Amino acid sequence: MLKINRTQEPNILQQNINCFSPKNYIILKEALIKDLNDRCSYCGEENISTATGEIDHFLPKKNFPTKKCEWTNLFWSCKKCNGHKLNKFFSEDENKNIGKLEYEPLKFDDKNYKFAENFSMDTFTGEIMFLNKRAETTINMLNLNNPFRNKARKKILIEYEKSKNIKLSKYKTLIEYYYSIN
Ligand SMILES: [Zn+2]
Repeated sequence: MLKINRTQEPNILQQNINCFSPKNYIILKEALIKDLNDRCSYCGEENISTATGEIDHFLPKKNFPTKKCEWTNLFWSCKKCNGHKLNKFFSEDENKNIGKLEYEPLKFDDKNYKFAENFSMDTFTGEIMFLNKRAETTINMLNLNNPFRNKARKKILIEYEKSKNIKLSKYKTLIEYYYSIN
C-alpha cells in the first residue's frame, strides 16, 4: 500500500522467456529491493531481504499467466504477505471469472496512486480503512487488515515516533508521514 516509484525495467524481462531462472531471480530481487528500500509493499515491514523477502505477483501468475514476467506486476513482499492474499482474484481467462469483481484493486505503482486519497489508518491498531469502493476491494482482496500486517504498521509508526521524537497521535501527522516515505 506504500507508493512505489519504479525505476527502469531490468533488461532480462524483455530478453528472456525464462524470466524466473535462479540467476534472473537475483537480478529482479535486487531491483525490487532498491525500488522499495527493502520494505514489504503490503505491510511496510523493513529490511526483509535478509530473512523473509520474496517476489510477489500482484496479479497471481496462476490466474494471469501472461503477466508472469511483467515488471509492473512484480512487487517486493515479506513472506507472510505473499502467502496471505485471498484467492479471489479474477482471471484473464473470462471463462474462469465467477462473480467478477466490480472494482479492480489499487496498484501502488500507478503514477496517480496516493495513500491518503484512498485510505486512512487507525494509529492505535495499525488497521487501515477505505475511503472509496476501490480501496475497499483492495483491502479485502489483498487481506490488508490481517492482524500481522496491522502489527507491522504499528511497529513502523512506533519506530518513526521514536526516531523523530514526535507523537503520531494526530491523523494529519500520520498522513504527512506516509507522504514522506512515499
Ligand atoms: Zn508484509
